[in-house]
Amino acid sequence: MVDWLWSLNLAQVVLFFVLLNALILVGAIAAEKIAARLFAAAPPAKPLRVQAWLLAISTVLINSAISVAGWLAWKSGFLLLNLNATPFEIVRDTLVLVLTMDFALYILHRIAHARWFYSWAHYLHHEYREVRMLTLFVMHPLEALGFGSLWVVTLTLFSFSVEAVVVFLQLNLWFGLAAHCGFSPYPAWLSKVLPALSVSPPAFHFEHHRNETVNFGFYTTIWDKLSKTSL
Ligand SMILES: [Zn+2]
Ligand SMILES: [Zn+2]
Repeated sequence: MVDWLWSLNLAQVVLFFVLLNALILVGAIAAEKIAARLFAAAPPAKPLRVQAWLLAISTVLINSAISVAGWLAWKSGFLLLNLNATPFEIVRDTLVLVLTMDFALYILHRIAHARWFYSWAHYLHHEYREVRMLTLFVMHPLEALGFGSLWVVTLTLFSFSVEAVVVFLQLNLWFGLAAHCGFSPYPAWLSKVLPALSVSPPAFHFEHHRNETVNFGFYTTIWDKLSKTSL
């Protein structure tokens, strides 16, 4: 897969990443419908407003552009990937990526709530007090660009293992969908264990959509606890 990605030309890689990101959105639409049938607590998958569709499509296009920028940085040597990582390095790099991105996203999210930035961009995401999986994709284009740029810049800081990058991207998608699905998809025991380990349960971000002064974290509750913004 890595060799195949390296061998593509620019036009092919643009097509690949647009299709991949579109597939992720289609997957989220399907996941929302499946969850509504499987979980009694899941909110019904109502039709999305036109504005929300346009914002979700713009997020897909921006995420595709960010992916292509990452590929260009990789091809030109600005971004190095460890293709021969040991199991220890894969676990270590995954943890480093989760904690680094978690901290950086917490800071970015606090900035997004500053009055000038909120009324300019982040308010769009907060128009949805009753969250649903697709809310993950509904954000101002500048916000999508900010989050994506942060990800590519983080990848240039160290030669992370390619497996850790893939695992992180899967975790990021799972946490994003779980944080917006409107119910807890976890069994009761896991819903108790996760907060004890400072891992964000879905309810943590639901609460942020109801009370915008608390719970800014994404993957963990660490930074909110330290900054006393946790509820
Ligand atoms: Zn927010
Ligand atoms: Zn949200």
